[in-house]
Amino acid sequence: AVAGPGVGATPRGSRLAGNYAPLPVTLAWASGAWARDVDGRAYIDMLAGYSSLNFGHRHPALVAAARDQLDRLTLSSRAFGHDLLEPFADALAHLAAPAVRGGAPLVLPMNTGAEAVETAIKAARKWGYDVRGIAPEQATIIVADGNFHGRTTTIVSFSTDAEARDGFGPFTPGFRVVPYGDADALREAVDETTVAVLLEPIQGEQGVVVPPVDYLPAVRALCDEADVLFIADEIQSGLGRTGATFACELWGVQPDLMTLGKALGGGIVPVSALVGREDVIEVLSPGTHGSTFGGNPMACAVGLAVIELLGSGEPQARARSLGAHLHSRLATMATAGLIERSRGVGLWAGIDVDPAHLTGRELCERLLARGVLAKDTHGSTIRLAPPLTIGSDDLDLALDPLSQALC
Ligand code: PLP
Repeated sequence: AVAGPGVGATPRGSRLAGNYAPLPVTLAWASGAWARDVDGRAYIDMLAGYSSLNFGHRHPALVAAARDQLDRLTLSSRAFGHDLLEPFADALAHLAAPAVRGGAPLVLPMNTGAEAVETAIKAARKWGYDVRGIAPEQATIIVADGNFHGRTTTIVSFSTDAEARDGFGPFTPGFRVVPYGDADALREAVDETTVAVLLEPIQGEQGVVVPPVDYLPAVRALCDEADVLFIADEIQSGLGRTGATFACELWGVQPDLMTLGKALGGGIVPVSALVGREDVIEVLSPGTHGSTFGGNPMACAVGLAVIELLGSGEPQARARSLGAHLHSRLATMATAGLIERSRGVGLWAGIDVDPAHLTGRELCERLLARGVLAKDTHGSTIRLAPPLTIGSDDLDLALDPLSQALC
């Protein structure tokens, strides 16, 4: 069957919904950067759960934290406190403090990335009404063309990807879309109703698109001039992937609010958070926002262990050194005409291949046949984002088949 929307997505006979078209591999075991399928065949994981597995599959410290917690307390709900909730918030605030505006940030834990983004949107709007005095129902948020912030109805309302958006209206109003990387267009779009600018510092789903070097500093300056919040969605770019703890640090830019997710749960549990300015997040008073599972004991136990790993600076250092190797090998492939171009930063790359020659999907199928897990995004682009713990030999073991698959 041809893979496409709803076609060939579900194995015959399965009752699984067809909202994904996975590559034909069924995983059963994984450790570090390696996974095995149900037949015992080994693969190097160059997707790492869309950057949720920054520390590899089943990192021993993360598994130990989860195991200990399983034997103690798994859920309290937010109706009650538990003994890791504040330690988790404090540790995350400490990790993020140098990267966000206003010193000691507040942390609002949620579960998925989309929930953290929804939380940011709610906090920004309420801050706009309560603090900035915007007229009721008039708050606007500026977002970028090519964005990916999740799949909820409000978030797809401002997606520019027809596949993600079409058929899901009526859409949530209050968003304005401007071209990514264009500070002048952003300046034009800001008016007195604008409460926030919501951006990915690097657009992951769009193919690891890195903005011009002066873009994020210009966004920061514009937000300051207009008393508008800069919300950085660091769900995919954050937590070591780029070689910095948070991607915005690469440009020396501090957002007012930051959304985190994916790697915060160590590939074990879904953990996300909104982190940032106290005077903004504190507008969310009891009863205005919440989540049954947000900040649950398992999430906090694993999240604390993740923060400890990042506190050593080692994952970030590995992303920088292995990333330099990755980008130099991809540059060689571009010079040899095997790929059209590559881009990225740290251990994170987007590769465009010639669409007349190969689709991204076909390339991923060829890689799969050679024992490498990778995933296409948008036509003839694939993204490489291995665990930051990958060995340099294993990285080469994944890049050699890439050169072969392109021939
Ligand atoms: N924001 C960004 C930048 C993402 O890359 C993603 C997921 O890919 C999300 C938000 C949504 O996260 P989730 O799938 O956990 O809802």
